[in-house]
Amino acid sequence: MVITLAIYLLPNKIILSQIITIAFSILFFIHSVEKVEGLRVNEFYRIIAYQIILLVYCNINYCWTETNKRKKFTANRELLDLSAKDPLTGIYNRAKFDDEIKRWTSFSERYGNSFSLILFDIDDFKGINDNYGHLVGDVVIKKVAATINKSIRDTDIFARWGGDEFVLLLPNTDIQQAEEMAERMREYIRNISYEPDIKITCSFGVAAYDKNDTIQSLLRKADKLLLLAKESGKDRVAVSEVKSTTSQI
Ligand code: GH3
Ligand code: MG
Repeated sequence: MVITLAIYLLPNKIILSQIITIAFSILFFIHSVEKVEGLRVNEFYRIIAYQIILLVYCNINYCWTETNKRKKFTANRELLDLSAKDPLTGIYNRAKFDDEIKRWTSFSERYGNSFSLILFDIDDFKGINDNYGHLVGDVVIKKVAATINKSIRDTDIFARWGGDEFVLLLPNTDIQQAEEMAERMREYIRNISYEPDIKITCSFGVAAYDKNDTIQSLLRKADKLLLLAKESGKDRVAVSEVKSTTSQI
């Protein structure tokens, strides 16, 4: 019985514990019938009954503990997920993005991988809020987030930067590919269908990580480019380094 109890303490080995304890019990009973003289029939049955009760108890206890462990694990995962998400759009929030960009800058510093950033902002969003109300404004933010979210790769990190501003981190992507991506995103957003008289457009700043960049300098670069896109007339992409169809620094 002590051995049975001890075997059930092995973590994540329920099948093994069952096989060992049942085989061990059978061997033990065969052995006791043959070797222990003077063992009365009712004593023998009593030992069998104790062992069966113990096995049933151990199995129930094991299942109950495992179910609780699994529930706790799922609850922790859900909590972690919630703390990383923006409640309005369901995409990552700023805190999660800060963690990810830290991870990517150290990774790129170490292994030399490229990555790019696209910072974008809805054009004349205040006007949408003022003319149609904040609830319509919220729907526009959600539609923009959902449209981009379904057009990116699993490895891309897409977050709400705050207000009507979003940020997309593209791992292993050079500036040229990032610019192409931003142009595609601009087109997807222009094609969002909503109230016929609301035209949704965004302006984009595209920057690539350089080995001399810090997180702040990279974000500053993307932000300046976004500002340039706004100043150049909005609904456009501004990009550093390579030739752009619109604006460049
Ligand atoms: P620009 O083209 O230069 O970006 O002009 P804009 O009117 O879009 O100006 P800006 O980006 O500064 O406006 C952001 C506005 O977004 C201000 C704020 O009231 C509104 N806003 C921020 N968060 C939310 C939100 O969660 N829901 C709604 N409906 N509005 C928000
Ligand atoms: Mg805006």
